[in-house]
Amino acid sequence: MTHTYEELLEKNRKYLWNPFTQMKTYLADEPLIIASGQGVKVTDARGKEYYDANASVWLNPHGHNRQELNDAIIEQLGQIAHSTLLGSANIPALLLAERLVQITPERLQKVFYSDSGAASVEIGLKMAYQYWNNKGRPEKCTLLTMKNAYHGDTVGAVSVGGIDGFHKTFEKLLFHTEKVSYPYPYRFNGTAEECVQACLTELEQKLIEKADQIAGMIIEPMVQGAGGMIMMPAGFLKQVEALCRKYDVLMLVDEVATGFGRTGKMFACEHDGVQPDIMMVGKKLTGGYLPVAVTLTSDEVYDAFYGEHRERKTFYHGHSYTGNQLGCAVALASLDIYEKDQTVAHVQRMSEAIKPLLQEIETLDHVGEVRQLGLMIGIELVADKASRRMYDWMEARGASVCRRAVDLGLLTRPLDDVVTFMPPLVSTQEELTDMLRILRQAIQEVTEP
Ligand SMILES: *Cc1c(COP(=O)(O)O)cnc(C)c1O
Repeated sequence: MTHTYEELLEKNRKYLWNPFTQMKTYLADEPLIIASGQGVKVTDARGKEYYDANASVWLNPHGHNRQELNDAIIEQLGQIAHSTLLGSANIPALLLAERLVQITPERLQKVFYSDSGAASVEIGLKMAYQYWNNKGRPEKCTLLTMKNAYHGDTVGAVSVGGIDGFHKTFEKLLFHTEKVSYPYPYRFNGTAEECVQACLTELEQKLIEKADQIAGMIIEPMVQGAGGMIMMPAGFLKQVEALCRKYDVLMLVDEVATGFGRTGKMFACEHDGVQPDIMMVGKKLTGGYLPVAVTLTSDEVYDAFYGEHRERKTFYHGHSYTGNQLGCAVALASLDIYEKDQTVAHVQRMSEAIKPLLQEIETLDHVGEVRQLGLMIGIELVADKASRRMYDWMEARGASVCRRAVDLGLLTRPLDDVVTFMPPLVSTQEELTDMLRILRQAIQEVTEP
């Protein structure tokens, strides 16, 4: 059954409420209805092609319609699509758990499945909380988090988030957390080192005062993604780890955005050689195909839950689709592609190759800073370059740039006035060059009319 574009638009108007979307603007601006994808491009229901320059919101590593991934799902379908992980196991979930333990930091030895990044965060938070409970220290029940953090949209994940634009509305619904500053040198009055030092001092002070009540600290390693693509200076994460150890606080790292090669390492933790107690991954885990996420933890945390039924140490958490076979099968096939294509090395090469183009964009009159780690890139727009003055929020410049880019054949999304560039990891130098040409043109047309 085929539908005209007009018919589909009408269905969007009538029936669909899109996430993270002001429907009035979206419907007025001409909704985008994707029909197919191939490699780094997607095609809308009218047949117009676009670069998928944010990898379908940070998911897609190997390109769309990848034969090996399609085949893995079809093969698994011939066996079984889903059976529960509550009190039983399945073959792809076991094989994937083993693979994940092998490729993540050494401390992480156990895998707990879920189906979205937000759920994996909820699980990590509850694990940290119950860990201390099971250890006989129930007073360690607060989470420490970073200002401007993003960990997903469920209530627990929002509680540890810190982006006012998304989170403020729900304030009264949230549980209490402790918050510390994240290093953002571009917007700090002083040098990058002074910025880092100020943040570390603040963190240590907080731990001196409150560590007795703190179960764990959750952090986006190396990059705050949704907070504006803000990279922490090298070495900061290692210091955070050292402070967590010193004050006996679990370290939880949210690798949902950064994991699986995005930053030029398989996991961002590797940049600073950090060994977290709990790690969340999702997004690219299944090659961008199906919703599987994972919370990994150490033997030490696992052991605190291990005991007789009557000891009441069981972790009572689970989701209907936990450990879904189709998702785990395609995740295994995705990991095979990482090996075969040497995806992470490719990201490193491409991230070097595009540096000159990013530097050119940084010289534009209304670009303040271009931030990059691997193929995780944010272009910060400013009203005035010299004073770093921001545009009035109401002007929605970032959104205008992205809308112009859509006309020019490239999809991405803004984070306020930070234009994100998160191409599929498989993108070639030629494709990246073309994508950046379009982005640059969109920025110039919108900011230098
Ligand atoms: C996207 C994201 C999440 C939430 O993942 P969902 O699958 O969208 O629930 C959590 N943390 C970070 C760092 C993310 O980028």
